[in-house]
Amino acid sequence: MSDDVVDPLLLGQRVVAILETGLRTATYKLATLMALVEHCIENLPEQPHDTLRVPLPELAHRVLSLYWQQVRPFDGRELRQSTQPRARILIAVNDLHAAAGRFSGSVDIAAMRAPEAHARAISDIVLCLAQQPLHRLQKLPGSPTSDPFLYDDSFLHDQISRSTLRAHGDAIELKPGVGSGLARLAGLLKPALEIMWVEDVRRMNKFLDAEVPDVAGHLFGRERAALVAVREPFKDAFGPHCFYCGTHLPPNNPIDHVLPWSLVGIDGLSNLVLACARCNGDKSGALPAVGLVDQVLRRDQAILNEIAASLQWPTQHERVVAAARGIYRGQPSGVPTWSGYKQTERLDVSFPPTWF
Ligand SMILES: [Zn+2]
Repeated sequence: MSDDVVDPLLLGQRVVAILETGLRTATYKLATLMALVEHCIENLPEQPHDTLRVPLPELAHRVLSLYWQQVRPFDGRELRQSTQPRARILIAVNDLHAAAGRFSGSVDIAAMRAPEAHARAISDIVLCLAQQPLHRLQKLPGSPTSDPFLYDDSFLHDQISRSTLRAHGDAIELKPGVGSGLARLAGLLKPALEIMWVEDVRRMNKFLDAEVPDVAGHLFGRERAALVAVREPFKDAFGPHCFYCGTHLPPNNPIDHVLPWSLVGIDGLSNLVLACARCNGDKSGALPAVGLVDQVLRRDQAILNEIAASLQWPTQHERVVAAARGIYRGQPSGVPTWSGYKQTERLDVSFPPTWF
């Protein structure tokens, strides 16, 4: 592989290879990689061979978001995510949950409610990521040296301090081509990482025998209940109609993530619409047609901001725009996208929308 051209397929194979070597003692490496992939989608470099800076506090916030819903009890018990007695990241996540008052909203809302506790959690997680998964990710078991194909990890070690990290800019830098490559691979890597994560959690929690249903749903699904607060304000603002087919909605209609939750996991108002159960079920994790995304992004920002203020629920508009760009730029033209109930449309970006 030359320095400025990265074959995404080769990159994907190398990522999977580092994960398939040896039993993991914690799910932290999986969380770190998943957070890196998400960062790449939302911060797609201008040129495919560019490097990409990843600020560690941002990475920590993504890791925090991944564990945020996973720490709630399953079958009445908290799931272990590590074979070690003290799982520092989980402690940080639980501390923030406690400070924000144990509610079912997203971590971004918790950060608004308990900013100091959020800052503490981020600081703890940054340190933990730097000392463990980021330091060890590219090192194969039994090998004294690292194979730094994703980022330079030479300044990281088990005892690194917060101030040393700050002196290094509090960031890692992805090598040329890695950012674009990981973004392009997101649709393949994320489901693979989730499968490995579920297997690890089953192994670390012996009470979960094969009969226990839907560990994956517990770890990675979106709880419908958490979105309910959005329904009435959206009906008042946009009318009680399905965003996709226009049908009149019953009182208990679903709230749909326009950019699929399984791909980017953004709960901000700018990524949410009212949908009927039929459209919501049919769309599922499919990539929506570009026209639909364009339509959702052109909704009245003043109205969304007003709802955001009254619910204390961020719109995350910029984040949704960045994620849309990262997702669609990485798709080959002609791939099928979901354009409505039982309808697909081939991706055509010959007239790209302004955000593309
Ligand atoms: Zn519908």
